[in-house]
Amino acid sequence: MSFDSQAWLAEARALIGEAHVLSADCGDDLSAYTRDWRNKFEGPALAVLRPADTGEVQAIVRLAARTDVALVPQGGNTGMCGASVPTAGGRQAVLQLGRLNRILELDPENNTATVEAGCILQTLQEQAAAAGRLFPLSLGAEGSCQIGGNIATNAGGVQVLRYGNMRDLVLGLEVVLPDGERLDLLRGLRKDNTGYDLKQLFIGAEGTLGIITAATVKLFPAPGAEAVAFAGVSSIAQAVQLLGAMRGRLGERITAFEVISGAAVDLVRHYFPDTPPLLEGACPWYVLMEASDGGSDEALHEAMQTALMACLEDGCLQDVVLAGNLAQGQALWMLRENITHAQQMDGGNIKHDISLPISRIPAFVEQMLPRLQQAFPGVRPIVYGHLGDGNLHFNVSAPRGVAPAAWQRETDAVNTLLHDVVVAMRGSISAEHGIGQLKRHELALYKTPAELDVMRRIKQALDPQGVMNPGKVL
Ligand SMILES: Cc1cc2nc3c(=O)[nH]c(=O)nc-3n(C[C@H](O)[C@H](O)[C@H](O)COP(=O)(O)OP(=O)(O)OC[C@H]3O[C@@H](n4cnc5c(N)ncnc54)[C@H](O)[C@@H]3O)c2cc1C
Repeated sequence: MSFDSQAWLAEARALIGEAHVLSADCGDDLSAYTRDWRNKFEGPALAVLRPADTGEVQAIVRLAARTDVALVPQGGNTGMCGASVPTAGGRQAVLQLGRLNRILELDPENNTATVEAGCILQTLQEQAAAAGRLFPLSLGAEGSCQIGGNIATNAGGVQVLRYGNMRDLVLGLEVVLPDGERLDLLRGLRKDNTGYDLKQLFIGAEGTLGIITAATVKLFPAPGAEAVAFAGVSSIAQAVQLLGAMRGRLGERITAFEVISGAAVDLVRHYFPDTPPLLEGACPWYVLMEASDGGSDEALHEAMQTALMACLEDGCLQDVVLAGNLAQGQALWMLRENITHAQQMDGGNIKHDISLPISRIPAFVEQMLPRLQQAFPGVRPIVYGHLGDGNLHFNVSAPRGVAPAAWQRETDAVNTLLHDVVVAMRGSISAEHGIGQLKRHELALYKTPAELDVMRRIKQALDPQGVMNPGKVL
């Protein structure tokens, strides 16, 4: 039977309202929903659908399943691997969760919040803070990414070292399954041994198994004190040594430990010339670290200063500055956050989001830098990341004078060079950003046949029609 798109759109409008079904046929500009954040992936959409609640999501999913229209769940569309936009194949509609944005319950005694999937991450952080609590997930896109997207990507960020990633922060979920059934797993329990932990299937699944409509997440007591320091180190091995030394001295109080290469700092300075000078001399690598606890700022600063001075004496760092106040601390973090933006302004780079056991990171970096230069003379690696979690953004910028498009054609060769070594060292080719469209072919190369088989069987069991986010992950 032929597909009547006008009739389909009319049916969708009847379900969720005229104003909430956007389509190119009606002159709507869909590009904000059909093109990804990196401008790397774009696919046509029959419509962009903006339901208001779980019931409307169910109705749309049932319509899609009955009419063989695939759905692409979308949050803030800040994902890095093309998972949140349609692919070229088949009839696909974007299911935008932004209108499901309510905080349903904040329970300070249970230290939990129950929120709809479209709630912006920053809104949850602010509401938790107003209740004297901390929601610790924190990342550069927090002003626009959504909790549902954070869960579907198992987002990490800068405080994983202390609080874990999204998988560690989710206690309960509500999911609409590919046949429209509502799966209510919305419990705020820290202990529950009643069979399979079903919510884990949907965390990090990139919208391929169902639509997350709400979640119960963990909150923590708001830390009263924070201290931020920026250190120069002579090598990445020294950065690893410093991590061990600082954790040894300050323990769980170390909440973030970011490594930044000298080249990454130079790039930020080039595109953001107002970046204040940090240390007196230049170093090949830097570390941005943050500590927090429930005591006073003075006591924490003193503890951090004592620990840093001991590290200096022990030869774990070259130079260090401790932010004297909140504004100085924020300026240090701004430098870290501007790396992504500077790279975008700089043009083509080939991104890698890898993880390794922390102990193997120095050997990996020291091996890869010369190998990259040998294979691609003049190449500019911009390496930074969450060293405390063993996660590096090992991005490779084009040699000067090489056009971005020409450099992108080297993607497979650069990826193979890096990822073969990552996997040989028992690391992961995607620590944070996921698989999406970008690394789908690599997943098939690097996962074992047994892992791929189990993943395919789960997909087949939950989504036999292939309605959910086709062309992603598997
Ligand atoms: C400047 C910048 C910094 C970043 N820093 C980090 C970082 O430090 N750590 C990190 O992990 N990521 C980071 N990211 C990547 C990105 O922000 C995260 O992956 C984020 O979790 C995506 O959320 P989103 O709402 O934008 O999801 P989207 O991009 O809209 O979607 C991402 C995936 O989730 C699926 N999805 C979205 N909502 C739902 C839902 N309700 N139900 C089911 N599936 C859904 C989509 O189909 C897609 O597969 C960064 C991005 C930017 C632009």
